Amino acid sequence: MPFDLSARLAERRSAQLFRQRPLLESPQGPEVVVDGQPLLAFCSNDYLGLANHPDVIRALRDGAEKWGVGGGASHLVIGHSTPHHELEEALAEFTGRPRALLFSTGYMANLAAVTALVGQGDTVLEDRLNHASLLDAGLLSGARFSRYLHNDADSLAKRLEKAEGNTLVVTDGVFSMDGDLADLPALCAAARRKQAWVMVDDAHGFGPLGAHGGGIVEHFGLGLDDVPVLVGTLGKAFGTAGAFVAGSEELIETLIQFARPYIYTTSQPPAVACATLKSLELLRSEGWRREHLDKLIARFRQGAEEIGLELMDSPTPIQPILIGDSGRALRLSAMLRERGLLVGAIRPPTVPAGTARLRVTLSAAHSEKQLESLLGALAESWALLIKEEAADV
Ligand SMILES: *Cc1c(COP(=O)(O)O)cnc(C)c1O
Repeated sequence: MPFDLSARLAERRSAQLFRQRPLLESPQGPEVVVDGQPLLAFCSNDYLGLANHPDVIRALRDGAEKWGVGGGASHLVIGHSTPHHELEEALAEFTGRPRALLFSTGYMANLAAVTALVGQGDTVLEDRLNHASLLDAGLLSGARFSRYLHNDADSLAKRLEKAEGNTLVVTDGVFSMDGDLADLPALCAAARRKQAWVMVDDAHGFGPLGAHGGGIVEHFGLGLDDVPVLVGTLGKAFGTAGAFVAGSEELIETLIQFARPYIYTTSQPPAVACATLKSLELLRSEGWRREHLDKLIARFRQGAEEIGLELMDSPTPIQPILIGDSGRALRLSAMLRERGLLVGAIRPPTVPAGTARLRVTLSAAHSEKQLESLLGALAESWALLIKEEAADV
């Protein structure tokens, strides 16, 4: 029988991989209401606590008064408005790149950049753990596509030996499900030896990383020659929506001319760009957000290690607790929820088989007291889980 969707769904269910969308009935923030239940959340990507910031809300509202709601058309027709243009100029200045191009989502920015730069006869090399949008972009490009071992410059160098045509090396800056940093100094050096270009998607680095929130390139002090294609998204630490690609004049002009995911879509609502201009200002000027976040990260790692949880090698607000089995990760997540805490269980295919985890994310909006509540609930739930498992065998 064609299209046997119910069998497919049933299979997904029995593999403990069925996904459900929690219904958020409040604004984003540490204290949320989900499916009717008040919960303390440690799972958003709102790392700096800007998604519900009064100044950002006001900028959105004022922007709507002045510019209306819809973008109205694609950028090349009549949808490229003053707030979009001002935001691009501000993002270019922020990233220290000659130019930046605004997109409605990070997924589209990645599709656009990769497919505009490489095609048949070229090569795209990606970290195995790259975000799905980057992997999809590589496949869609039609270039020879190969994945190197996670964060391994030697594995990359071997693939670079066999590369043909224009070669693009693509990596997450901060890996979204592990929280570790790309070893950019080594990856960029390997790429440079073969005249390959490096593209970094720093969706999770802009905001938390770098002295001024400039992300992984600021953290490592890397310029345009090291990372010619730099992608950031605006729905995470910026607290708004959209994404950008920053780079040379020629790169941005190439995207405008050739990138189908840029050309054939409506511009984002201009008021959203107004909101992002405000959040960019806060992200840059309020260094206390990063400092507070760093304190929370250090305290979480210390507390979790004391409980005996297995953490990953992450200096970022993404602090996964490695569990392994999907059912076990779901069970621990459910136990936390019974205690009023919301932490997502991340399972395959989002992460490799056998590496299910609880993805704890911290935000500058969390208080130290809220973090202690998380650690307390984790200690209790973990002890209970071990006890249950001992009783089962
Ligand atoms: C979230 C994310 C994206 C997608 O960005 P959206 O704006 O949400 O579409 C791209 N890359 C990485 C690494 C991400 O984490």
